[in-house]
Amino acid sequence: MSFLSTRGGSVVTASQAILRGIAPDGGLYVPAMFPAVTTEKIARISEMSYQDRAVNVLKLFLEDFSIPEIEQAVNAAYGPDRFNDPAVAPLKKLDDTTWVMELFHGPTLAFKDMALQLLPHLLKMSAEKNREDREVCILVATSGDTGKAALEGFRDVPGTSCTVFYPLDGVSDVQKLQMVTTGGNNTRVIAVRGNFDDAQTGVKELFGSEEFIAKMAERGKVLSSANSINLGRLVPQVVYYFSAYADLVRAGEISAGEPVNFCVPTGNFGNILAGYYAMNMGLPVNRLICASNRNNVLTDFFNSGIYSTHRTFFKTLSPSMDILVSSNLERLLYEAADRDGELIRTWMGQLKECGSYSIGDQRREWMSGVFWGDCADNKDTLNEIKQRWEHDHYLLDPHTAVAGHVLREYRKANGDATPTVIVGTASPYKFASDVLRAVSGEEIGDAFAASEALEKLTGIPMPGQVKKLRDLPVRHTAVCDRDKMAEAVLE
Ligand SMILES: *Cc1c(COP(=O)(O)O)cnc(C)c1O
Repeated sequence: MSFLSTRGGSVVTASQAILRGIAPDGGLYVPAMFPAVTTEKIARISEMSYQDRAVNVLKLFLEDFSIPEIEQAVNAAYGPDRFNDPAVAPLKKLDDTTWVMELFHGPTLAFKDMALQLLPHLLKMSAEKNREDREVCILVATSGDTGKAALEGFRDVPGTSCTVFYPLDGVSDVQKLQMVTTGGNNTRVIAVRGNFDDAQTGVKELFGSEEFIAKMAERGKVLSSANSINLGRLVPQVVYYFSAYADLVRAGEISAGEPVNFCVPTGNFGNILAGYYAMNMGLPVNRLICASNRNNVLTDFFNSGIYSTHRTFFKTLSPSMDILVSSNLERLLYEAADRDGELIRTWMGQLKECGSYSIGDQRREWMSGVFWGDCADNKDTLNEIKQRWEHDHYLLDPHTAVAGHVLREYRKANGDATPTVIVGTASPYKFASDVLRAVSGEEIGDAFAASEALEKLTGIPMPGQVKKLRDLPVRHTAVCDRDKMAEAVLE
C-alpha cells in the first residue's frame, strides 16, 4: 500500500507518511486505494478482542510493518494498564435503535487517546525503518486536551520525547493539573506567557526555523509532530468503526451486511473521516451524521457546498470542537474531486487567500448521499444531557451530547430508523461542572467538588484518572516568554 498527497505529489510508504506527518507539497497523505474488507471478514472479527480487530484492520494500511510489529504496538497501546475497560471501546445501548460507542476509557478520558496511544509506537518503528536514528522530538501546542493525550502516549516510549506548550492562562484547572503532573523521563510541559495562538504560532515558527532544526540535529534530535493530520492518527481511528459494527453483530442486534449510521461530534473532521474510510473499505454504512456545535462551519458546508471561515468564533461548552478550519476535510474533498490534486490545490489556495471555496452543486449532492450535517447550541447541548439522563439513565459529556441532539434532528427530518451508533468522545467527568448543571441545575465551579456531587447524584463512579489527580505531585513548573520557546526546548 502506498500513500499519495492530496495535492498531487509523492508516493511514499506508510512509515514514511507517519514520519513526515505532512507531505512536502503541503497536502495530506491518503491511501492509494481503499483495501476491501468483506462481510465474511467482518463477521469473523466480531469474535475477536479489540486488540485483534485492530491488528486485522491496521495491517491493511501498514504494509511496511510486520504483523509482530503491529501486534507489539497494539498491545502496548490498548492494554489494561492504559484503558480502564477491557473492551477498550465498549458499546452501550440507549434504546432500540441507538447505541453509544465509548471512546473515553484511555488515560486522558477522551477519544484522542485511541490514536495517541498507538502513534508513538508507530512513529518509533517508522523512524527505525527509515534509518532515522536520531531521537524523535514531538513538539505540541495545546489548548488543553491534545497536549495531555500526546504526553501520555509518548511517556517513556524509547527513542522519542514530547514537549508540550500551553498558554499560561488559557487552559482549565483540570487540564493544567493533568499536564503538569505527567510522569515519564521524556516528557516536558512548558507554560507560555500568552494565549493559545501565541503558543501555536511559536511552535509553528520552531518547525520553520532552520537554525533551530540545525541546533536540534547537533544534539542528535529530529523534530516531528503528532497533530491530527498525521496518517498515524487516522488509521487507528478506522479500527473502532469496524469494532462497533462487530459488537452489534456479536450481540445479535444486526446481521452482518445490514447498514448502520454513525453520528459523530466533529471538530477537525478526523474522527468522522475515519468512519468514511471504513465505509469505503466495505463497512455497511448508510449515513455519516456530522454534528457540530455553534461553530457550524461544516453544517453550512454540507448544506451549501461552500466552505467559508468568514464567521464569528464562539467559545462553547464543547471546546474540543471549537474550530473554524477543519484540516482533515481535505481528505474528503480529495475523494469528492475524483482524486484531482490540482483541484484541491485551487480550493486550498482560495481558502488561504479569500477564506472560502465552493465545490459546486454536483459534488455537494454526491456528498449529501453519505453525509448529513447539523448543529447544536449550548442550550440544545444541556437539554440533551438532561433528557438522556432522565429517559435512558445515560450520562453524556457535552461533546457527545451535541451528537445526541443532532441525531434527534436528523431522525425528525429523515424518518430514518436505521440502527445508529453515537460516537462518544469524552467522559462526562471531564466536564463535571457543566454536566452537573445540566442534570440537576446545581452550580459548582470547582471541578473536584462537582465530580463528587455528580458521583453522588448519578451513582456512576468517578474514573480513577480524575480521583488521583488531586494527590499527584506537580512535576512541571517551567514558564517562558513567547520569544524564548526555542531556548526552552534546547535547555
Ligand atoms: C478532538 C475532539 C473532538 C473532535 O474530533 P475531530 O477529530 O477533531 O473531529 C470531539 N470531542 C472531543 C472530546 C475531542 O477531544
